[in-house]
Amino acid sequence: MKPIEEIKPLLESPKKVVITMHQKPDADAMGSSLALYHYLRRKGHDVTVISPTNFPDFLKWMPASENVLDFESALDKSLKALDGVELLFCLDFNHLGRTKNMEPYLEKLNCIKILVDHHLEPQPDFDYGLSDTTAASTAQLIYEIIYRLGDEHYIDNDIAQCIYAGTMTDTGSFRFASTSARVHRMVADLLERGLEHEYIHQAIYDNFLENRLRFIGHSLLNRMEVFYETNTAMMAIPYSDLKRFDLQTGDTEGLVNFLLSIQGIKLAALIIDRNSEVKLSFRSKGNFDVNTFARKYFEGGGHFNASGGRSSDSLDRTVQRFLKAMHENEDLLQ
Ligand code: 5GP
Ligand code: MN
Repeated sequence: MKPIEEIKPLLESPKKVVITMHQKPDADAMGSSLALYHYLRRKGHDVTVISPTNFPDFLKWMPASENVLDFESALDKSLKALDGVELLFCLDFNHLGRTKNMEPYLEKLNCIKILVDHHLEPQPDFDYGLSDTTAASTAQLIYEIIYRLGDEHYIDNDIAQCIYAGTMTDTGSFRFASTSARVHRMVADLLERGLEHEYIHQAIYDNFLENRLRFIGHSLLNRMEVFYETNTAMMAIPYSDLKRFDLQTGDTEGLVNFLLSIQGIKLAALIIDRNSEVKLSFRSKGNFDVNTFARKYFEGGGHFNASGGRSSDSLDRTVQRFLKAMHENEDLLQ
């Protein structure tokens, strides 16, 4: 993979560009993709953003989110965008499998592929890229790339909002260890450029429907289990809960963090039966590596303190497998 700066000559004449991200995108996947979209459009490129799946309503305030194609529901338009594409940007994921149904189409593409990501252990087959696991967010990397290409004068309010949103959410509102001085300097720069950060916090965090809050209450009361001997807390959510509270994409985001707020808890696991498969989210505090844990037991990955995985077993069976894995890691969890 060649360094990202070397794409500079490629951007000097108008190109057909597609930007994509991981399935069920979060604010960082969507924010980094839309920040790059605005930047490349302002430079005169023909740019389409494709999300492998739908995305949460609480991201729909993002400037130009209405132009994002959902690969599943807008297949024809998406394939048209991929036809003859010259540059493919892959944002906020480390292997093509994270693009779900798009994977076979992306693999076949005969264009220049560029990775921008901050997850551990990226797949090697990209032409250009920036994989920086010390970055707090992929959105931060887009900001840094714009600077490295000498194009910071392109950073307008649309770009600033997208970059701020991705970084705010991936750092847990600027509290995780990844919130470096570099992040604070970037935010200071965005504020000096006129960004109104309060609006973004409200757009993302003060936009719940009542049922989402009631679901959280129900889950904390009825679905949470704490295993003090292994410093672990777990929540297993049956599909019937998702139906009962009429949950939409993104409504379970943040739930896993409640578990880590219990005194002494080092490992938090949220296990959700999504009907088609069981999805797992892991968070840890300190030196327990949930990237390795998700890879080893649940075909997943992510970061050292935040990762995810999947299982094709039933919810009960997945919970049993998780508990077995937890006990196998008892020593590391002390
Ligand atoms: P979340 O729990 O918020 O869905 O994901 C936490 C982190 O783990 C994110 O950085 C996400 O990209 C990553 N992640 C979540 N699910 C998977 C998965 O199935 N495979 C891999 N490789 N990473 C995942
Ligand atoms: Mn991210």
